Amino acid sequence: MLHICVDAGVSVVPQGGNTGLVGGAVPRGAVVLDLRRLDTVEVDDVAGSVVAGAGATVGAVQVAARAAGLRYGVDLASRDTATIGGTIATNAAGLRAVRLGDTRAQLIDVEAVLTTGAVISRRGGLTRDNSGYDLPRWICGSEGTLAVVTAARLRLLPDPADRATALLGFADLPAAVAAAATLRREPAVEVLELMFAPGVALVCEQHGMSPPFASNPPVLLLVEVTAAADAGSLLGELVENVPGVADVAAGVDAADARRLWAYRELHTESIGRVGIPHKLDVALPLPALAGFVAEVTAELARLRPDARAWIFGHVGEGNLHLNVTGLDPADEDADDAVLRLVAAAGGSISAEHGIGRAKQRWLPLVRSAEEIAVWRAVKSAFDPTGTLNPGVLLPN
Ligand SMILES: Cc1cc2nc3c(=O)[nH]c(=O)nc-3n(C[C@H](O)[C@H](O)[C@H](O)COP(=O)(O)OP(=O)(O)OC[C@H]3O[C@@H](n4cnc5c(N)ncnc54)[C@H](O)[C@@H]3O)c2cc1C
Repeated sequence: MLHICVDAGVSVVPQGGNTGLVGGAVPRGAVVLDLRRLDTVEVDDVAGSVVAGAGATVGAVQVAARAAGLRYGVDLASRDTATIGGTIATNAAGLRAVRLGDTRAQLIDVEAVLTTGAVISRRGGLTRDNSGYDLPRWICGSEGTLAVVTAARLRLLPDPADRATALLGFADLPAAVAAAATLRREPAVEVLELMFAPGVALVCEQHGMSPPFASNPPVLLLVEVTAAADAGSLLGELVENVPGVADVAAGVDAADARRLWAYRELHTESIGRVGIPHKLDVALPLPALAGFVAEVTAELARLRPDARAWIFGHVGEGNLHLNVTGLDPADEDADDAVLRLVAAAGGSISAEHGIGRAKQRWLPLVRSAEEIAVWRAVKSAFDPTGTLNPGVLLPN
Protein backbone atom coordinates (compact mmCIF):
# COMPACT_ATOMS: atom_id res chain seq x y z
CA MET A 1 0.00 0.00 0.00
CA LEU A 2 2.88 2.35 0.87
CA HIS A 3 4.49 1.97 -2.56
CA ILE A 4 1.17 2.78 -4.30
CA CYS A 5 1.02 6.05 -2.33
CA VAL A 6 4.69 6.78 -3.04
CA ASP A 7 4.13 6.18 -6.80
CA ALA A 8 1.00 8.35 -6.76
CA GLY A 9 2.72 11.11 -4.77
CA VAL A 10 0.14 10.87 -1.97
CA SER A 11 1.09 11.41 1.70
CA VAL A 12 0.40 8.75 4.33
CA VAL A 13 -0.52 9.26 7.98
CA PRO A 14 -0.03 6.14 10.15
CA GLN A 15 -2.73 5.98 12.82
CA GLY A 16 -3.12 3.82 15.92
CA GLY A 17 -5.67 4.62 18.61
CA ASN A 18 -5.76 8.32 17.67
CA THR A 19 -5.30 9.30 21.33
CA GLY A 20 -2.25 11.47 20.56
CA LEU A 21 -2.57 15.00 21.91
CA VAL A 22 -0.55 16.99 19.36
CA GLY A 23 -2.42 16.25 16.10
CA GLY A 24 0.20 13.85 14.67
CA ALA A 25 -2.32 11.24 13.52
CA VAL A 26 -4.78 13.74 12.06
CA PRO A 27 -4.69 13.65 8.23
CA ARG A 28 -4.50 16.78 6.11
CA GLY A 29 -5.19 15.65 2.53
CA ALA A 30 -3.43 12.34 3.14
CA VAL A 31 -4.29 8.63 3.17
CA VAL A 32 -4.76 7.29 6.71
CA LEU A 33 -3.04 3.98 7.35
CA ASP A 34 -5.04 2.45 10.22
CA LEU A 35 -2.85 -0.11 12.01
CA ARG A 36 -5.40 -1.36 14.54
CA ARG A 37 -6.01 -4.72 12.87
CA LEU A 38 -2.39 -5.76 13.52
CA ASP A 39 -3.38 -6.64 17.06
CA THR A 40 -1.65 -9.94 17.88
CA VAL A 41 0.01 -10.31 21.29
CA GLU A 42 2.35 -13.20 22.03
CA VAL A 43 4.17 -13.46 25.35
CA ASP A 44 7.55 -15.19 25.24
CA ASP A 45 7.84 -16.64 28.76
CA VAL A 46 11.38 -17.84 28.30
CA ALA A 47 12.76 -14.56 26.97
CA GLY A 48 10.58 -12.50 29.33
CA SER A 49 9.32 -10.39 26.46
CA VAL A 50 6.23 -9.88 24.32
CA VAL A 51 5.88 -9.64 20.55
CA ALA A 52 2.93 -7.37 19.79
CA GLY A 53 1.40 -6.15 16.56
CA ALA A 54 1.43 -2.37 16.12
CA GLY A 55 -2.35 -2.24 16.60
CA ALA A 56 -2.48 -4.12 19.92
CA THR A 57 -3.53 -1.78 22.71
CA VAL A 58 -1.27 -1.14 25.68
CA GLY A 59 -4.08 -2.57 27.84
CA ALA A 60 -4.13 -5.85 25.84
CA VAL A 61 -0.36 -6.20 26.27
CA GLN A 62 -0.70 -5.55 30.01
CA VAL A 63 -3.43 -8.22 30.32
CA ALA A 64 -1.38 -10.80 28.39
CA ALA A 65 1.73 -10.03 30.45
CA ARG A 66 -0.17 -10.38 33.73
CA ALA A 67 -1.61 -13.74 32.64
CA ALA A 68 2.01 -14.92 32.32
CA GLY A 69 2.93 -13.56 35.77
CA LEU A 70 4.80 -10.60 34.25
CA ARG A 71 3.98 -6.99 33.47
CA TYR A 72 4.56 -4.31 30.84
CA GLY A 73 6.27 -1.20 32.23
CA VAL A 74 4.36 1.48 30.29
CA ASP A 75 1.00 2.50 31.67
CA LEU A 76 -1.14 5.50 30.80
CA ALA A 77 -4.78 6.53 31.22
CA SER A 78 -5.41 5.95 27.47
CA ARG A 79 -4.23 2.32 27.83
CA ASP A 80 -7.37 0.72 26.36
CA THR A 81 -7.20 2.72 23.11
CA ALA A 82 -3.55 3.75 22.64
CA THR A 83 -1.66 1.17 20.57
CA ILE A 84 1.82 -0.28 20.79
CA GLY A 85 2.65 1.30 17.40
CA GLY A 86 1.40 4.71 18.54
CA THR A 87 3.18 4.54 21.88
CA ILE A 88 6.42 3.60 20.11
CA ALA A 89 5.96 6.40 17.55
CA THR A 90 5.45 8.93 20.36
CA ASN A 91 7.80 7.29 22.91
CA ALA A 92 4.94 7.47 25.41
CA ALA A 93 6.00 7.65 29.04
CA GLY A 94 3.08 7.62 31.47
CA LEU A 95 2.42 6.86 35.07
CA ARG A 96 5.29 4.54 36.04
CA ALA A 97 8.07 6.03 33.92
CA VAL A 98 9.69 7.56 36.99
CA ARG A 99 10.77 4.03 37.96
CA LEU A 100 10.30 1.82 34.88
CA GLY A 101 11.22 4.22 32.07
CA ASP A 102 9.46 5.35 28.90
CA THR A 103 8.56 3.22 25.85
CA ARG A 104 12.10 3.52 24.46
CA ALA A 105 13.35 1.83 27.63
CA GLN A 106 11.08 -1.18 26.98
CA LEU A 107 12.04 -1.69 23.32
CA ILE A 108 13.99 -4.75 22.30
CA ASP A 109 13.18 -4.61 18.58
CA VAL A 110 10.83 -2.92 16.17
CA GLU A 111 9.58 -4.25 12.87
CA ALA A 112 8.95 -1.31 10.58
CA VAL A 113 8.25 -0.68 6.91
CA LEU A 114 9.95 2.15 5.04
CA THR A 115 8.50 3.99 2.08
CA THR A 116 11.35 2.54 0.03
CA GLY A 117 9.75 -0.89 0.56
CA ALA A 118 12.50 -2.00 2.96
CA VAL A 119 11.52 -3.76 6.17
CA ILE A 120 13.69 -3.04 9.22
CA SER A 121 13.84 -5.66 11.94
CA ARG A 122 16.63 -7.40 13.80
CA ARG A 123 14.14 -10.12 14.85
CA GLY A 124 15.58 -12.82 17.11
CA GLY A 125 14.93 -10.77 20.23
CA LEU A 126 18.51 -10.38 21.41
CA THR A 127 18.57 -8.15 24.45
CA ARG A 128 22.29 -7.43 24.00
CA ASP A 129 23.26 -6.21 20.56
CA ASN A 130 25.70 -3.36 20.27
CA SER A 131 26.48 -3.82 16.58
CA GLY A 132 26.03 -0.26 15.39
CA TYR A 133 23.30 2.35 15.03
CA ASP A 134 20.13 1.43 16.90
CA LEU A 135 17.38 2.06 14.35
CA PRO A 136 14.47 0.89 16.56
CA ARG A 137 15.32 3.63 19.04
CA TRP A 138 15.48 6.20 16.24
CA ILE A 139 12.03 5.16 15.05
CA CYS A 140 10.78 5.40 18.64
CA GLY A 141 9.65 9.00 19.14
CA SER A 142 9.75 9.81 15.42
CA GLU A 143 5.96 10.40 15.37
CA GLY A 144 5.35 8.37 12.21
CA THR A 145 7.76 10.49 10.14
CA LEU A 146 10.43 7.83 9.50
CA ALA A 147 8.70 4.45 9.16
CA VAL A 148 5.47 2.57 9.77
CA VAL A 149 5.80 0.35 12.84
CA THR A 150 4.11 -3.00 12.20
CA ALA A 151 5.24 -4.97 15.29
CA ALA A 152 7.62 -4.80 18.23
CA ARG A 153 9.32 -6.96 20.80
CA LEU A 154 9.12 -5.36 24.24
CA ARG A 155 10.68 -6.35 27.52
CA LEU A 156 8.43 -7.54 30.32
CA LEU A 157 9.21 -7.17 33.99
CA PRO A 158 8.55 -9.29 37.07
CA ASP A 159 5.12 -8.49 38.50
CA PRO A 160 5.47 -7.51 42.17
CA ALA A 161 2.93 -9.43 44.18
CA ASP A 162 1.80 -6.51 46.30
CA ARG A 163 1.18 -2.80 45.82
CA ALA A 164 -0.11 0.01 48.02
CA THR A 165 -1.43 3.46 47.19
CA ALA A 166 -1.78 6.62 49.25
CA LEU A 167 -2.79 10.20 48.62
CA LEU A 168 -0.75 12.78 50.52
CA GLY A 169 -1.79 16.37 51.20
CA PHE A 170 0.67 19.30 51.44
CA ALA A 171 0.41 22.92 52.52
CA ASP A 172 2.27 24.14 49.42
CA LEU A 173 4.03 23.07 46.24
CA PRO A 174 7.66 23.35 47.48
CA ALA A 175 6.79 20.88 50.28
CA ALA A 176 5.21 18.45 47.78
CA VAL A 177 8.17 18.72 45.37
CA ALA A 178 10.63 18.13 48.22
CA ALA A 179 8.62 15.05 49.29
CA ALA A 180 8.59 13.76 45.69
CA ALA A 181 12.36 14.19 45.46
CA THR A 182 12.80 12.20 48.69
CA LEU A 183 10.35 9.47 47.70
CA ARG A 184 11.92 9.14 44.24
CA ARG A 185 15.08 7.80 45.87
CA GLU A 186 13.14 4.82 47.26
CA PRO A 187 13.33 1.89 44.81
CA ALA A 188 9.85 0.65 45.77
CA VAL A 189 8.15 3.92 44.76
CA GLU A 190 6.70 3.60 41.25
CA VAL A 191 4.18 6.41 41.01
CA LEU A 192 4.46 10.08 41.99
CA GLU A 193 1.54 12.07 40.58
CA LEU A 194 0.93 15.70 41.40
CA MET A 195 -2.49 17.33 41.67
CA PHE A 196 -3.85 20.63 42.95
CA ALA A 197 -7.00 21.26 44.99
CA PRO A 198 -8.99 22.93 42.13
CA GLY A 199 -8.39 19.95 39.79
CA VAL A 200 -9.42 17.45 42.46
CA ALA A 201 -12.51 19.55 43.29
CA LEU A 202 -13.42 19.58 39.58
CA VAL A 203 -13.10 15.76 39.36
CA CYS A 204 -15.35 15.43 42.44
CA GLU A 205 -17.91 17.85 41.02
CA GLN A 206 -17.97 16.24 37.55
CA HIS A 207 -18.08 12.64 38.79
CA GLY A 208 -20.11 12.93 41.99
CA MET A 209 -17.16 11.85 44.17
CA SER A 210 -16.50 12.93 47.77
CA PRO A 211 -13.33 14.96 48.37
CA PRO A 212 -10.38 12.91 49.64
CA PHE A 213 -9.74 15.20 52.66
CA ALA A 214 -11.99 17.36 54.83
CA SER A 215 -9.05 19.77 55.26
CA ASN A 216 -8.80 20.45 51.50
CA PRO A 217 -4.98 20.66 51.17
CA PRO A 218 -3.87 22.86 48.25
CA VAL A 219 -1.40 20.32 46.81
CA LEU A 220 -1.73 16.52 46.60
CA LEU A 221 0.63 13.70 45.71
CA LEU A 222 -0.52 10.23 44.65
CA VAL A 223 2.10 7.64 45.65
CA GLU A 224 2.23 3.95 44.85
CA VAL A 225 4.80 1.44 46.05
CA THR A 226 5.24 -2.15 44.95
CA ALA A 227 6.88 -4.99 46.87
CA ALA A 228 6.98 -8.76 47.03
CA ALA A 229 4.89 -8.57 50.24
CA ASP A 230 3.44 -6.09 52.70
CA ALA A 231 3.64 -3.04 50.45
CA GLY A 232 1.16 -1.25 52.77
CA SER A 233 3.57 -1.30 55.75
CA LEU A 234 6.44 -0.20 53.54
CA LEU A 235 4.42 2.74 52.22
CA GLY A 236 3.38 3.64 55.79
CA GLU A 237 7.02 3.74 56.92
CA LEU A 238 8.11 5.81 53.93
CA VAL A 239 5.35 8.36 54.41
CA GLU A 240 6.08 8.68 58.13
CA ASN A 241 9.66 9.68 57.32
CA VAL A 242 8.82 12.23 54.64
CA PRO A 243 8.75 15.78 56.00
CA GLY A 244 5.92 18.16 55.17
CA VAL A 245 3.04 15.65 54.80
CA ALA A 246 -0.07 17.34 56.21
CA ASP A 247 -2.71 14.67 55.38
CA VAL A 248 -2.68 11.02 54.37
CA ALA A 249 -5.44 8.95 52.76
CA ALA A 250 -4.40 5.32 52.45
CA GLY A 251 -5.90 2.95 49.90
CA VAL A 252 -6.78 0.27 52.42
CA ASP A 253 -8.25 -2.15 49.88
CA ALA A 254 -8.40 -2.44 46.08
CA ALA A 255 -11.61 -0.40 45.79
CA ASP A 256 -10.14 2.33 47.92
CA ALA A 257 -6.93 2.41 45.88
CA ARG A 258 -9.03 2.69 42.67
CA ARG A 259 -10.83 5.67 44.21
CA LEU A 260 -7.53 7.40 44.97
CA TRP A 261 -6.33 6.73 41.41
CA ALA A 262 -9.59 8.11 40.02
CA TYR A 263 -8.83 11.58 41.46
CA ARG A 264 -5.79 11.65 39.16
CA GLU A 265 -7.00 9.68 36.13
CA LEU A 266 -10.27 11.60 35.74
CA HIS A 267 -8.50 14.97 35.46
CA THR A 268 -8.30 15.02 31.63
CA GLU A 269 -11.92 14.02 31.13
CA SER A 270 -13.21 16.43 33.80
CA ILE A 271 -11.32 19.39 32.34
CA GLY A 272 -12.70 18.51 28.89
CA ARG A 273 -16.22 18.86 30.30
CA VAL A 274 -15.73 22.52 31.24
CA GLY A 275 -14.17 23.70 27.99
CA ILE A 276 -11.86 22.82 25.14
CA PRO A 277 -8.48 23.15 26.81
CA HIS A 278 -5.21 24.32 25.31
CA LYS A 279 -3.04 21.37 26.34
CA LEU A 280 0.56 21.99 27.28
CA ASP A 281 2.78 19.12 28.37
CA VAL A 282 6.03 20.46 29.70
CA ALA A 283 9.04 19.29 31.71
CA LEU A 284 11.03 21.37 34.18
CA PRO A 285 14.15 20.62 36.18
CA LEU A 286 12.69 19.59 39.56
CA PRO A 287 14.36 22.47 41.49
CA ALA A 288 12.72 24.97 39.09
CA LEU A 289 9.24 23.45 39.20
CA ALA A 290 7.62 25.33 42.09
CA GLY A 291 8.98 28.68 40.90
CA PHE A 292 7.71 27.95 37.38
CA VAL A 293 4.17 27.19 38.59
CA ALA A 294 4.06 30.47 40.55
CA GLU A 295 5.40 32.40 37.58
CA VAL A 296 3.13 30.81 34.99
CA THR A 297 0.03 31.28 37.14
CA ALA A 298 0.84 34.99 37.56
CA GLU A 299 1.61 35.41 33.85
CA LEU A 300 -1.66 33.76 32.76
CA ALA A 301 -3.66 35.87 35.21
CA ARG A 302 -2.03 39.00 33.75
CA LEU A 303 -2.38 37.97 30.09
CA ARG A 304 -5.81 36.30 30.10
CA PRO A 305 -7.65 37.01 33.39
CA ASP A 306 -10.65 34.92 32.28
CA ALA A 307 -8.60 31.82 31.53
CA ARG A 308 -8.20 28.98 34.01
CA ALA A 309 -5.06 26.85 34.31
CA TRP A 310 -5.44 23.24 35.50
CA ILE A 311 -2.12 21.68 36.45
CA PHE A 312 -1.30 18.06 37.21
CA GLY A 313 1.39 15.63 36.16
CA HIS A 314 4.15 13.12 36.60
CA VAL A 315 6.10 15.16 39.15
CA GLY A 316 8.82 12.57 39.72
CA GLU A 317 10.19 13.56 36.32
CA GLY A 318 9.29 17.25 36.50
CA ASN A 319 6.49 16.66 33.96
CA LEU A 320 3.50 19.00 34.25
CA HIS A 321 0.32 18.85 32.20
CA LEU A 322 -0.94 22.39 32.00
CA ASN A 323 -4.43 22.61 30.54
CA VAL A 324 -5.82 26.09 29.99
CA THR A 325 -9.57 26.57 29.55
CA GLY A 326 -11.44 29.78 28.75
CA LEU A 327 -9.26 30.64 25.73
CA ASP A 328 -10.33 31.00 22.14
CA PRO A 329 -9.08 27.86 20.29
CA ALA A 330 -7.08 30.06 17.87
CA ASP A 331 -5.59 32.28 20.60
CA GLU A 332 -2.01 31.06 21.01
CA ASP A 333 -0.68 33.99 23.05
CA ALA A 334 -1.06 32.16 26.36
CA ASP A 335 0.57 28.99 24.94
CA ASP A 336 3.41 31.12 23.64
CA ALA A 337 3.93 32.86 26.99
CA VAL A 338 3.90 29.56 28.90
CA LEU A 339 6.32 27.79 26.54
CA ARG A 340 8.73 30.74 26.61
CA LEU A 341 8.75 30.58 30.43
CA VAL A 342 9.41 26.82 30.19
CA ALA A 343 12.36 27.35 27.85
CA ALA A 344 13.75 30.15 30.03
CA ALA A 345 13.63 27.79 33.04
CA GLY A 346 15.67 25.16 31.14
CA GLY A 347 12.65 22.94 30.50
CA SER A 348 11.13 21.11 27.53
CA ILE A 349 8.08 22.20 25.54
CA SER A 350 7.06 18.54 25.22
CA ALA A 351 7.67 16.13 28.07
CA GLU A 352 5.88 13.13 26.60
CA HIS A 353 3.24 13.97 24.00
CA GLY A 354 5.65 14.91 21.19
CA ILE A 355 5.64 17.83 18.79
CA GLY A 356 3.10 16.76 16.13
CA ARG A 357 1.58 19.74 14.37
CA ALA A 358 0.47 21.54 17.53
CA LYS A 359 3.88 22.31 19.07
CA GLN A 360 5.99 22.72 15.93
CA ARG A 361 6.00 26.49 16.07
CA TRP A 362 7.87 26.40 19.39
CA LEU A 363 10.44 23.72 18.52
CA PRO A 364 13.26 26.28 17.99
CA LEU A 365 12.87 27.32 21.65
CA VAL A 366 14.42 24.01 22.71
CA ARG A 367 16.15 22.56 19.61
CA SER A 368 18.95 24.21 17.64
CA ALA A 369 18.98 24.75 13.87
CA GLU A 370 21.91 22.31 13.72
CA GLU A 371 19.90 19.58 15.45
CA ILE A 372 16.92 20.10 13.16
CA ALA A 373 19.22 19.94 10.11
CA VAL A 374 20.48 16.51 11.25
CA TRP A 375 16.87 15.38 11.76
CA ARG A 376 16.07 16.39 8.17
CA ALA A 377 18.99 14.31 6.87
CA VAL A 378 17.77 11.32 8.90
CA LYS A 379 14.23 11.84 7.59
CA SER A 380 15.37 11.82 3.98
CA ALA A 381 17.46 8.66 4.54
CA PHE A 382 14.41 6.80 5.90
CA ASP A 383 11.72 8.40 3.73
CA PRO A 384 13.34 9.95 0.65
CA THR A 385 10.01 10.90 -0.95
CA GLY A 386 8.74 12.64 2.20
CA THR A 387 5.57 10.53 2.07
CA LEU A 388 5.14 9.87 5.79
CA ASN A 389 3.43 12.47 7.95
CA PRO A 390 4.57 15.65 6.16
CA GLY A 391 4.12 18.67 8.42
CA VAL A 392 4.41 16.60 11.61
CA LEU A 393 7.40 17.17 13.93
CA LEU A 394 9.59 18.75 11.22
CA PRO A 395 8.40 22.04 9.76
CA ASN A 396 7.58 21.63 6.05
C1 LIG B 1 -6.62 10.32 28.64
C2 LIG B 1 -5.25 10.35 27.99
C3 LIG B 1 -4.14 10.12 28.78
C4 LIG B 1 -2.86 10.13 28.21
N1 LIG B 1 -1.79 9.91 29.03
C5 LIG B 1 -0.54 9.90 28.49
C6 LIG B 1 0.59 9.66 29.32
O1 LIG B 1 0.48 9.51 30.53
N2 LIG B 1 1.80 9.63 28.72
C7 LIG B 1 1.97 9.81 27.37
O2 LIG B 1 3.10 9.76 26.88
N3 LIG B 1 0.89 10.05 26.56
C8 LIG B 1 -0.34 10.09 27.08
N4 LIG B 1 -1.43 10.34 26.28
C9 LIG B 1 -1.23 10.59 24.84
C10 LIG B 1 -1.40 9.35 23.94
O3 LIG B 1 -2.19 8.35 24.53
C11 LIG B 1 -0.03 8.79 23.54
O4 LIG B 1 0.66 9.75 22.77
C12 LIG B 1 -0.07 7.47 22.75
O5 LIG B 1 1.24 7.02 22.60
C13 LIG B 1 -0.71 7.58 21.37
O6 LIG B 1 -0.97 6.26 20.89
P1 LIG B 1 -2.03 6.02 19.71
O7 LIG B 1 -2.01 4.58 19.34
O8 LIG B 1 -3.34 6.57 20.09
O9 LIG B 1 -1.36 6.87 18.53
P2 LIG B 1 -2.05 7.90 17.52
O10 LIG B 1 -2.68 9.01 18.28
O11 LIG B 1 -2.89 7.18 16.55
O12 LIG B 1 -0.74 8.46 16.79
C14 LIG B 1 0.21 9.23 17.47
C15 LIG B 1 1.40 9.48 16.53
O13 LIG B 1 2.04 8.24 16.23
C16 LIG B 1 2.00 7.95 14.83
N5 LIG B 1 1.72 6.51 14.71
C17 LIG B 1 0.67 5.82 15.22
N6 LIG B 1 0.79 4.52 14.95
C18 LIG B 1 1.94 4.38 14.25
C19 LIG B 1 2.60 3.26 13.67
N7 LIG B 1 2.13 2.02 13.77
N8 LIG B 1 3.76 3.48 12.99
C20 LIG B 1 4.27 4.73 12.89
N9 LIG B 1 3.69 5.82 13.40
C21 LIG B 1 2.53 5.64 14.09
C22 LIG B 1 0.92 8.85 14.27
O14 LIG B 1 1.15 9.16 12.90
C23 LIG B 1 1.01 10.07 15.19
O15 LIG B 1 2.04 10.92 14.76
C24 LIG B 1 -2.71 10.37 26.82
C25 LIG B 1 -3.84 10.59 26.02
C26 LIG B 1 -5.10 10.58 26.60
C27 LIG B 1 -6.29 10.81 25.72
